[in-house]
Amino acid sequence: MPAGRCELLPWIDAARCTGCGWCVAACPFHLLSLELKDWRKTSVISDLDACTGCRKCEPKCPFNVISMVHRAPPTAE
Ligand code: SF4
Ligand code: SF4
Repeated sequence: MPAGRCELLPWIDAARCTGCGWCVAACPFHLLSLELKDWRKTSVISDLDACTGCRKCEPKCPFNVISMVHRAPPTAE
């Protein structure tokens, strides 16, 4: 794991996401997008490694669907 990388990532509860898109607009790196899953639009993050953990997406969700979680520890080789 590169030194200094933020250890937080957004976790989106797909079952509760309404697909409103507020979080998509909030990410300065355009990492979030709406995808069709089970006939519903939900927000997904495209590149976990590019996420800086800046938390800009988390407070933008009107439904508190986004939680910041710790990255999984690196697996031993
Ligand atoms: S934490 Fe920041 S970089 Fe990561 S998805 Fe949310 S807004 Fe984008
Ligand atoms: S702001 Fe919340 S409800 Fe809206 S698309 Fe993003 S995660 Fe889903």
